[in-house]
Amino acid sequence: METKQWKFKANRVIKPASAFSIARVIADVKANLNESDERPVIPLSIGDPSVFPCFRTDQVAEDAVVEAFTSAQFNGHAPKGGLLQARRSLADHLSSNLPYKLSPDDVYVTAGAKQAIEVVLSSLRLPGANILLPKPGYPAYEALSVIHHLEVRHFDLLQEKDWEVDLNGLQTLADDKTVAMVIINPGNPCGNVYTHDHLKKIAETARRLGILVIADEAYGHLTFGSNLFVPMGQFGNIAPVLTLGSLSKRWMVPGWRLGWIAKSDPDGILEEQGIVESIKRSLMINTEAATFVQAALPHILEKTTDDFFVKTINILRKDADACYEGLKEIPCFTCLQKPQGSLFLMVKLDLSQLQDIKDDMDFCSELAKEESVVLLPGFVLRMENWVRVTFAIEPSLLEDGLERIKAFCLRHASNF
Ligand SMILES: *Cc1c(COP(=O)(O)O)cnc(C)c1O
Repeated sequence: METKQWKFKANRVIKPASAFSIARVIADVKANLNESDERPVIPLSIGDPSVFPCFRTDQVAEDAVVEAFTSAQFNGHAPKGGLLQARRSLADHLSSNLPYKLSPDDVYVTAGAKQAIEVVLSSLRLPGANILLPKPGYPAYEALSVIHHLEVRHFDLLQEKDWEVDLNGLQTLADDKTVAMVIINPGNPCGNVYTHDHLKKIAETARRLGILVIADEAYGHLTFGSNLFVPMGQFGNIAPVLTLGSLSKRWMVPGWRLGWIAKSDPDGILEEQGIVESIKRSLMINTEAATFVQAALPHILEKTTDDFFVKTINILRKDADACYEGLKEIPCFTCLQKPQGSLFLMVKLDLSQLQDIKDDMDFCSELAKEESVVLLPGFVLRMENWVRVTFAIEPSLLEDGLERIKAFCLRHASNF
């Protein structure tokens, strides 16, 4: 047969976008694991604690899904934007922490918070537009911004100020093409929880700049320190807010793929600017969340027991304390604050105290090889020579993991 010149080629945007993929970097770190080590691998890199028995979701939530599933009433497609009963229950659930009431029209059901990010970013696409993202942050924003042709500009989170947004720096980054900023509260990857005051200042800054606030509350209510969780939607009268959330983290069921977008915009600015229309169109061309999980949502939101939430928070608090105290004892690490929320914290590596370790990736690779402990190198979060530690694992494994990290650091310590 003659040789044919095939015309199709790979999408050239996928490769640069996938550079911001936690899954890809973790796979690279794990490639160093030593199979002959008989000890269990300790995954201090994961964002999905549902694999640990101590974090099994509430029976009420499981029963609600089973009931919806076996009713045979939810085997069809759900309407775009979600089943009405799911939207109604979400609106009620989210309104309980807001100064005004959301209607079912203010919320959209998505396949996880991840799809909520995709839908919102795709609805903002404008020629030459840019978006302000936190550093460190959640890499999916960066990847999806690349795909949707939004130019990314990073503002700093200030470590010495409990990872608050550097609002002065942020204002110098913004220009007339800036359309939105993202905040993640409670914070992934820093485990911080913003105060009411700070959130208000963020809203005021967004108003001054004329931009939308995208509030990622994937870890909403997962707090265990002195700062309580305050939803960004409380400041929707200052600047329009799109809140993204999901069952994934608070209910520990990321595989159920149930998330949402909620608009807190009492003055109707998002409607006026055409964003609502754009979100609806984007939802029309996206896959909807599984219908039976949507159908179970009212039951899940209304009936999940306090016992479940309290138990989860208690384990997380204990884990966070143990992790913070354990890391403090390791000389090459600096961790200024004890985490107050989410499942993670960030530590800075002092490489001058270690021999033969080049950078954060090298540290994580060698640690995986020698101790079968997996950490996330900070570079993928734009924080070179930092690492992200997931403390949300079975407490006994966490203890073991910290011991192994300590042994590794002592073995590699420079002698001076
Ligand atoms: C996990 C996570 C998401 C995605 O959540 P899903 O509901 O699993 O899609 C979004 N944002 C942040 C900050 C997350 O950590």
